[in-house]
Amino acid sequence: MIRLDLRRDGISRRIALTIIAAMLISVLLNFLFVQVAGVWARPPLSKTGLLEQIAVTARMLEAAPRDQRERLANAASNPQLQVQWNPERAPFALPGPGETIEIETVPELHELLATRPRRLEGFQPGDWPKGSPDAHYKLMMQMADGSWLAFTPPYRSWGLSTGMRLTIIGLLALVAAVLVAWVGTRQLAGPLQRFARAARRFGSDLRAPPIRPEGPHELRQAITAFNTMQAQIQHFIAERTQMLAAISHDLRAPLTRMRLRGEFIEDPEQQRKLFRDVDEMQHMINAALSFFRDETRLETTTPFDLAELLWTLVDDYRDQQIEVAFTGPANLVYQGRPLGLKRAVTNLIDNAVKYAGAPQMRLISTTHTLLIEVSDQGPGIPDAALEEVFVPFFRLESSRNRNTGGVGLGLPSARTAIREQGGELTLHNRPGGGLLARIELPRVND
Ligand code: ADP
Repeated sequence: MIRLDLRRDGISRRIALTIIAAMLISVLLNFLFVQVAGVWARPPLSKTGLLEQIAVTARMLEAAPRDQRERLANAASNPQLQVQWNPERAPFALPGPGETIEIETVPELHELLATRPRRLEGFQPGDWPKGSPDAHYKLMMQMADGSWLAFTPPYRSWGLSTGMRLTIIGLLALVAAVLVAWVGTRQLAGPLQRFARAARRFGSDLRAPPIRPEGPHELRQAITAFNTMQAQIQHFIAERTQMLAAISHDLRAPLTRMRLRGEFIEDPEQQRKLFRDVDEMQHMINAALSFFRDETRLETTTPFDLAELLWTLVDDYRDQQIEVAFTGPANLVYQGRPLGLKRAVTNLIDNAVKYAGAPQMRLISTTHTLLIEVSDQGPGIPDAALEEVFVPFFRLESSRNRNTGGVGLGLPSARTAIREQGGELTLHNRPGGGLLARIELPRVND
């Protein structure tokens, strides 16, 4: 059962923290919008009561005697709304005629002032020359006796409409949520991705180092379990290899004794057969021992030029008067184990030389894989035995009789080397005759 335990750094706590962070950031952004975006973030003028204040002041001044209007206007002024009265328009130093406002279009004013038609002019800060201290919104109202009233709300704009304000706030909340969700998912997905990559790497590299536990509790638990499993597998393989090496080693002593005892066999024919068998066994044991103690198994993955390695190999064969026809690029950097790969390819070419002749090699690079193909024009291998030849010590009857010197460990060790770097080695009979050995290597092996 999944419990919501917020004391632990688990997935549930991370999700909860992400949601809380999203909400807090959203509130913060909204607060910043209202505070910092200043005038534009305020509600529209009609919702502030400023228009009502203008209408009431206008009515009051109209009712007052002319000589008291200036004083009254001053008295009606406050920081939100500055009121000025003047019998003439000129002293207001207006930048121009201003925009005529029909009183019917402003219901708040119309309701309170509709008794008598009045001239209304509106000014925007932009109507004044740039940098002018008077650049504010201003409403000019001509009273019935021809005198003028000016209303200036110095610190505000006409405000945004409710719809616009809600849209902006909604957008800010969305930005906050997307931001936090992005950080949150990265926090969760990042360690998961690294875990998946490391697990994949173990599939292709048995000696891959353990994965560093990170991320929420559940993921750390999974990584620890994976590391334990990986260590057990590595330990198991090492133990088996050691055991097989020890058995092979211990078989050498009784074999040597057999050989000594064989000296006392009188029948020369039987003695010859026994010596041949003993020699063959010794040969196999030595091959097995060198297979188990193969130092290329300890090789680490590094970037190297695979094409150059193959070209060098071709040169080495040429020095031994063996011509290997090679087609491939001049350079191709690959991340893998050069020694193991070289050993595997050498085994394949050796086989082509031993059992067939006219070895050919191709290096092909595709988006996801690298192919190394070694082919020959020999007899090939019966289809039924194409997999069997990978079994250690398995040799086809024909090669046993031909006394080619191998013990049947070449192909198994080549396949092991290729599989250890996440690749595959397969054999195919070519339509026109001959064997095709194909090494397929993954391109992205990080
Ligand atoms: P070894 O060469 O030591 O016998 P390998 O494991 O390399 O052992 O090969 C196993 C068997 O597969 C060989 O004995 C041989 O019969 C067969 N074989 C390998 N390569 C070829 C080839 N190119 N053409 C025909 N037969 C082959």
